[in-house]
Order: sequence, then structure tokens, then C-alpha cells
Amino acid sequence: MRILVSNDDGVHSPGLHTLARVAQRYGDVRVVAPDVEQSAMSHAITVRRPLHYTETRVDGLDAYRVDGTPADCVALGAHHWEKVDLVVTGINLGLNIGHNIWHSGTVAAAKQASFLGIPAIAFSAPASDSEPDYTELEPFVAQVMELFLEHPDLPLLNVNFPERPRGLRWTRMSVRHYEGLVIPGTDPMGRQHYWFAERPRERVEEGTDRWAIEQGYGSLTPLRLNLTDDSRLDVAKREAAATD
Ligand code: MN
Repeated sequence: MRILVSNDDGVHSPGLHTLARVAQRYGDVRVVAPDVEQSAMSHAITVRRPLHYTETRVDGLDAYRVDGTPADCVALGAHHWEKVDLVVTGINLGLNIGHNIWHSGTVAAAKQASFLGIPAIAFSAPASDSEPDYTELEPFVAQVMELFLEHPDLPLLNVNFPERPRGLRWTRMSVRHYEGLVIPGTDPMGRQHYWFAERPRERVEEGTDRWAIEQGYGSLTPLRLNLTDDSRLDVAKREAAATD
């Protein structure tokens, strides 16, 4: 099995190295990742300039760093390595739950694989101020890989881990409230500037990705690329038919 590994934190991220290490147990691994951090780039692609690869090594594995976005990396990697069976992305240094799924480069890299017809799993874990040690997550990454191999009908999966998972739970994405916040400030030259920040949620809905993490479980959320609101479409069609 050919497994392409990518991320949005850059080719030197410890999360990427953990993921590549576990992926090696299941097949041939090739790493194609951004040369610099590309977090929150979502599904951006590079269209106004060419892209370049530079060969490198990650834990003894073939690796390539790309001067592009996470989605670029997966598109290039799949182009140059025929018949990739699975794309895994992360482990992102920061959770990708709720609205962050929309902003995430890690999830977008997995989505890019899905666009290309390749099954994909995005992995994320809490960020920390020090160098993260994801050794304790390795058995859970392996568990998800095995689950995925048993269920090839899961084309796109978003996985989040707390620091020390007590198990895994199937969840849905929590998007009831947007948690992004713009905070104004002043720089040392007296100019106004702005930071994007997160406001903590006061209430968490049961069964969601955020709920699972708060309960200490790893969260597994199947995603899809089709954004069509089918129920709204049905209503609109019925209304249109009634006025015909
Ligand atoms: Mn990131």
C-alpha cells in the first residue's frame, strides 16, 4: 500500500514525523509537505507561479518539501507517485474541530486527496507551548489506520485527539456557533492592528467533536465534499414547482 503523508505545519513538524512513523507499519510511505508553516491556509492552491520540490529526509523516509500550500503538496505528491492508496495528514499542532475544519490546511490536504479519489484521514491534537511529544498518540493513530483499512467506504475522515485519549468516539462537526473573534490592539509604533482569536464555548453539544475532546475521547468525524444543503434544495424545488 502506498501512503502519502502531508501536513500544514511544515516538513519539520514533530506531528508529521509521528504520523509518518506509524504509517510505515502499513505500507510504503512518502512525505510531501510544505517547506514552511501553512496553517489556516484552508484549501488554497498556487495558480500564479510554478511550484518546486526539494528532496529531503524525514526519519529516514523519502520526503519532499514544497514551496506551496498543503493542497498543493497532496496534488503534487499524487501526481508524481502513481496509485497512492491513502493520504494521511497531520498530526496537526492544534485541534481541528468545529469551525476550524473550514480554516484548516491539514483537513484541506485530506480534502484534496478526496477530490482526486484517494481516501484520506486528517489527524490533529492539542497545541502546546513546548515541543509536543505525540508518542502516547501512536497506538490511537494505528487504531484509526486499521479502522480505515477495514472500512474503505470511509473516504474522508477528520480525527482529533486529546492529550491522552481514553478511547475513540464517532462524532459530528460542531458548527452551531462561530468561535472566531477579532481583537484590536496597538503596535509599538502606535498603529492599530488586529488579531484573530478564539472565544471559549460556554456550552458544548453532546455527540460533537468538541464534546468528545472535552470528555477525553479521540473524535472521529466522517466528512464529505458536497456542500449542497439537500433539505433546503428540496424546499426551494417544491416552492418553484408550486409557482410554475
Ligand atoms: Mn497547522
